[in-house]
Amino acid sequence: QNNYVIFKIPSLSTNESFARAAVAAFCANLNPTIDEIIEIKTAVSEAVTNAIIHGYENTVGEIQIECKIKGQLVEIIVEDYGSGIVNVEMAREPLYTTKPELERSGMGFAVMETYMDEVVVLSEKDIGTKVIMRK
Ligand code: ATP
Ligand code: MG
Repeated sequence: QNNYVIFKIPSLSTNESFARAAVAAFCANLNPTIDEIIEIKTAVSEAVTNAIIHGYENTVGEIQIECKIKGQLVEIIVEDYGSGIVNVEMAREPLYTTKPELERSGMGFAVMETYMDEVVVLSEKDIGTKVIMRK
């Protein structure tokens, strides 16, 4: 049976742990392994953190999180309506970061790619960013 949940949160750093836990709880229906749960939580955490610190920088905007279950497949979409990414291909390169001064390592997208089977990034400058992850 297909199933889904959609929710929106303001881009407060305190909401990152909620988003991660909410997606993990929703995916529990699939009887994932502990490793799979950790991987999903980590990937969601990276995408939501990016929306908070890069998408909205120091402002508060809205983040939409969508989690869909299709058979044994999970699709998670994290969307913000913030700054957007000018060059997505470059942003996805490991170690690429626009915030080295904040001790960012530029590994967020690499982590998402490692832990999820597919990561699609759609972004437009000043429109926002949509990260679609499948597993
Ligand atoms: P880390 O995730 O290791 O702390 P990071 O966030 O800089 O560092 P990535 O998550 O790989 O590294 O993101 C790479 C770059 O892509 C960011 O530095 C930022 O410039 C851009 N970026 C990522 N997500 C967004 C977003 N939602 N909105 C705007 N820019 C983004
Ligand atoms: Mg990041």
